[in-house]
Amino acid sequence: MREFEFLQPGSVIEASKMLADLGEDCRLMAGGTALMLVMRQRMLMPSHIVSAERIEALRGIHYDPVRGLRIGALSRHSDIARSSPVRAHYPMLASMAARVANPQVRNQGTLGGNLCYGDPSTDPPGCLMALGAELVLASARGQRVLPMESFLLDFFVTAIEPDELVLEVRVPPPAPDATGLYTRFKRTAAEHRPLVSVSLLARHDAALCHEIALVVGASVPVPLRMRRAEEFLSGQRVSLDMAREAANIVAQDISPLSDARGDEVYRREMVRINAQRTIEATFGLVTDGGPSREPTSY
Ligand SMILES: Cc1cc2nc3c(=O)[nH]c(=O)nc-3n(C[C@H](O)[C@H](O)[C@H](O)COP(=O)(O)OP(=O)(O)OC[C@H]3O[C@@H](n4cnc5c(N)ncnc54)[C@H](O)[C@@H]3O)c2cc1C
Repeated sequence: MREFEFLQPGSVIEASKMLADLGEDCRLMAGGTALMLVMRQRMLMPSHIVSAERIEALRGIHYDPVRGLRIGALSRHSDIARSSPVRAHYPMLASMAARVANPQVRNQGTLGGNLCYGDPSTDPPGCLMALGAELVLASARGQRVLPMESFLLDFFVTAIEPDELVLEVRVPPPAPDATGLYTRFKRTAAEHRPLVSVSLLARHDAALCHEIALVVGASVPVPLRMRRAEEFLSGQRVSLDMAREAANIVAQDISPLSDARGDEVYRREMVRINAQRTIEATFGLVTDGGPSREPTSY
């Protein structure tokens, strides 16, 4: 690994100015779990590392019944999984965070780093998209707020500018009749990363669906709201047949990734099965222990 200078700014403005002044030769580091890997592999050889460690504004998890949840970008996956307000008001988010990677990565990797790296084989982006989350981006020039859908642009590409930091993630307060379910499928038990993720947030009364957000992640370049399947289910009393048909629509509407972990055909089928099981479980359609058999990936 190339030697680098380690800078430790104490504020967002200071960090942003360093990033602007040093340009391409400089990288922000949070937990370092992604960055150090690419530096060790010499895919990236920055001369300066700007550590986010001392920037207090990036820390903390706070809940307010009116404004919802605020998760500082430096929150680690394990902080989110253990957080009392997250567990109480957003169990889907807590359960997702508890399944990210392995204990080492969960205790070191941060939410901000996860989102900024733009890796498709990750858990938080799809889950946060279903929850209607927004990101606050900050720099010496000011702040802007972007919904998750506008932040993730493509395979490893996000909307963040070189001098910007993710300050926090905001999640709106949950509706009283909303249920959320995050499911993931791993190709093998030994793998950490999801091959497929399905995030479902629905306002419903048993099988009667009032409103739904259904997001597929991990097998597509960026997580996607499945609008056609959402429209198909909204306002309907969901049956097993409808769950199957909605999952078929989901499978038709994605353009899956194809790589060594799974080709397009395999990924499309795994997305279809996981979407169907997630819809069935959400609307209480599990009668024979089917979907709730819960493969280890759930
Ligand atoms: C073995 C392994 C298994 C994994 N499995 C999973 C998994 O199952 N599910 C999953 O979701 N993820 C998984 N990951 C990815 C993991 O979640 C990320 O590596 C981690 O969250 C990145 O956070 P970090 O703080 O370490 O980021 P860093 O490595 O510090 O930074 C990553 C990138 O984000 C930028 N960055 C960091 N913070 C900010 C910020 N606040 N503002 C702007 N830019 C920022 C950095 O400049 C860098 O480009 C895995 C990683 C490993 C190594």
